[in-house]
Parts: sequence; C-alpha cells; structure tokens
Amino acid sequence: MSYKIVADQCTGCGACEYECPNKAISESGGVFVIDAGKCTECKGFFDSAQCAAVCPVDGTCIPA
Ligand code: SF4
Ligand code: SF4
Repeated sequence: MSYKIVADQCTGCGACEYECPNKAISESGGVFVIDAGKCTECKGFFDSAQCAAVCPVDGTCIPA
C-alpha cells in the first residue's frame, strides 16, 4: 500500500519530501508526488506516515 498526494490540494511546499525515509516523494510540475513503488507507509521507520504528519494542508492533501 502507498499514500497518495492529492495534486490539486498540494501547495508544493516540499515539507513531505524531506521527511520521507524511503525518498519516495519528488517534485513534478510544481506539486509533489509519491512513488507507490517506494512508499512503505513508513513501516519499519515510524508509527505513522511522516508525510501526512507534516503536510500543512490538514487531512485533505495526503489522506490516510
Ligand atoms: S507514508 Fe512514509 S514512506 Fe510513504 S511517502 Fe509518506 S513519508 Fe514516505
Ligand atoms: S507537505 Fe503537503 S502541501 Fe507540502 S509538498 Fe507535501 S503534499 Fe504538498
């Protein structure tokens, strides 16, 4: 399973990219995207998804 960024909610702030332990997040055309092949939902690193935890667009940009 993988988390997803809702593109039209993303402000492009980049906070999530820095937090991802798998380097699964990258910028594409001004918004950020999660590579589903790299996202492990932070299992093995953290108890919760770090991208969703730091995203300032509460709840709607990286839904659980
Ligand atoms: S849930 Fe974790 S591994 Fe997946 S994209 Fe977010 S920070 Fe990266
Ligand atoms: S933290 Fe949220 S708003 Fe910022 S780049 Fe990531 S998904 Fe977009």
